[in-house]
Amino acid sequence: MSLPDITARIRKAEKEAGREPGSVTLIAVSKVQPDERVRAVLDAGHRCFGENRVQEAAGKWPAFREDYDGIELHLIGPLQTNKARQAFELFQTIHSVDRPKLARTIARLADETGHCPDVFLQVNTGEEEQKAGVMPAEADAFVAECRTLGLPVQGLMCIPPIDEEPSLHFALLAKIAERNGLSGLSMGMSSDFESAIALGATHIRVGSAIFGARDYGGK
Ligand SMILES: *Cc1c(COP(=O)(O)O)cnc(C)c1O
Repeated sequence: MSLPDITARIRKAEKEAGREPGSVTLIAVSKVQPDERVRAVLDAGHRCFGENRVQEAAGKWPAFREDYDGIELHLIGPLQTNKARQAFELFQTIHSVDRPKLARTIARLADETGHCPDVFLQVNTGEEEQKAGVMPAEADAFVAECRTLGLPVQGLMCIPPIDEEPSLHFALLAKIAERNGLSGLSMGMSSDFESAIALGATHIRVGSAIFGARDYGGK
């Protein structure tokens, strides 16, 4: 477990970027990780975690929550509308609001339940066919639509294409956020979180660098 190393690297990157120490939120991405690795990070005092599947999160986090106070969960993977209600019960923040239909479902659930997770809107900065998120050219209209629906929009999120320089995508996301008056930027993973911080990331999503490689069991 190398949480202290990652924390030290975050502090250094914040300093170099002229950012306040502690201003970047570290989301420890625990998907697929064995429980004992997650518990080690909880025992070290960390409380902010990310999962990319509702079902998986529902299977493991209620038990962790019985043992540890103050856990904050972020959904960072695609959300089907029929899982939105369950997501409301588990997650404090949803980073993957990527289409109007989902935004409308979230708004309806917020009306019904009287609460709403914070949301980030996912932008498909690489315009990749298989990837979720609105196209950069549609982002302004989507932000406006989500605001009209009353969603608590904290910022934007992206996952750069694996074979491209991530900083170009981070810079594009930052530009779209700025012109829309949004301060939150969910960007940067194990291999590129320092450059994301340099370009304004407020939330970084780091998995394998904290927990070790994920074992998908040959699936
Ligand atoms: C898995 C995942 C991460 C973490 O990836 P690492 O390379 O292990 O840090 C970050 N963001 C999203 C959306 C993910 O699905």
